[in-house]
Amino acid sequence: MSRNLPVNAGRIAEDIEALADITEPGRPWTRRAFTPLFLEGRAHIEARMKAAGLETRIDAAGNLIGRRTGRKPWSGTIMLGSHSDTVPDGGRFDGIAGVVAALEVARSLHDHGLELDHDLEIVDFLAEEVSIFGVSCIGSRGMTGQLPEAWLSRVSGDLDLAGGIAQVGGEPDVLMQQKRSDIAGFLELHIEQGPVLEAEREDIGIVTAISGITRIEITVEGRADHAGTTPMDRRADALVAASQLVLDIRNAAAELARTPGHFAATVGEFRIEPNAANVVPSKVVLRIDGRAEIRADMEAFCRWLDGHVEKLATAYGVTIGIPNRVSDNLPTPGDAGLLSTLETACERVGAKYRRMASGAGHDTAWIAKVAPAAMIFVPCRAGRSHCPDEWADNDDIALGAAVLFQAVREMDKDSKREKADGTHTG
Ligand SMILES: [Zn+2]
Repeated sequence: MSRNLPVNAGRIAEDIEALADITEPGRPWTRRAFTPLFLEGRAHIEARMKAAGLETRIDAAGNLIGRRTGRKPWSGTIMLGSHSDTVPDGGRFDGIAGVVAALEVARSLHDHGLELDHDLEIVDFLAEEVSIFGVSCIGSRGMTGQLPEAWLSRVSGDLDLAGGIAQVGGEPDVLMQQKRSDIAGFLELHIEQGPVLEAEREDIGIVTAISGITRIEITVEGRADHAGTTPMDRRADALVAASQLVLDIRNAAAELARTPGHFAATVGEFRIEPNAANVVPSKVVLRIDGRAEIRADMEAFCRWLDGHVEKLATAYGVTIGIPNRVSDNLPTPGDAGLLSTLETACERVGAKYRRMASGAGHDTAWIAKVAPAAMIFVPCRAGRSHCPDEWADNDDIALGAAVLFQAVREMDKDSKREKADGTHTG
């Protein structure tokens, strides 16, 4: 890349490679939260934070934070971050690219001798991925007062989550009283984990919204019968009805996906009983994972589903329970002001960008509940992620870091503008 960026691409590559080396031997790339390797990765990040002149600490929720004090700390904190934990057999970039890019922004400000009015914090959020405790986004929920207290007693082996948080240096005893109120703005860089940017040759995705996630469980009950002797027209085959349902869900989701706003629905869990070759299936339990950028789409999907299962039950002579919404999260729109700040930043560094939704969940969704927050995507090869093939070109990450760098400078100006517009109340 011949662009003259305000960040150093070589340092980004070095850090990503150094973290990639910290993995379970013979199982690249695995550095799960609450393991000794995770702490080793964090020790590296903390050392790099210190070298960049940041003051480091672990907050009550177990987040690693590097801080640089601003000239007018009362303006609030500009926060950048992502996560350094991986899924088992994951990639080198998911989360890590965002932590390293954020760190590079701090280093570059330092190199350019640029002081900010705001305090700046670089955050490695604890356990963004589903951890050994079976839940995700522990650090970002904890920092913002959204960690359900009951989760602290979730157990894995002989450790509970409270103990896990304490082991990484957090303070589970005071965690429930935490809720940051000083965040003036939050930005996260992340690999897209999808194929759009690469296919459309865009440099940056400005994330309009993080899709809401709705999980729905459906039970189909038929009747077990002898597979050899029961005539085809006298069966109540739960699997046949459930199979039809899966296809219809796919078609309904595809239709919603063609309208504006990201939408996807997947039947990813499917249990069949009695699951024997010579018995007509008596019961199927399936689970839908639905993602919607626009809440009305999810409502429309659920209404369709409720009506459709009744029709299918009649048509196939089976019983289908009312679809049960096991969990239901609303979409999180990116902060409108930050989205336009990010567009300005892209233009400043000469990055081609498009607006797009995130189908995946991210720490940003939790921070957005308490502060203006937004995120950017950088391209990744063939959209592959959560697997060892995950790859993002270093130049693309560096360009993303440059966008963050410019956006931070814009955000810092914004506070001055607000102050200038404000009346002089002494
Ligand atoms: Zn991630």
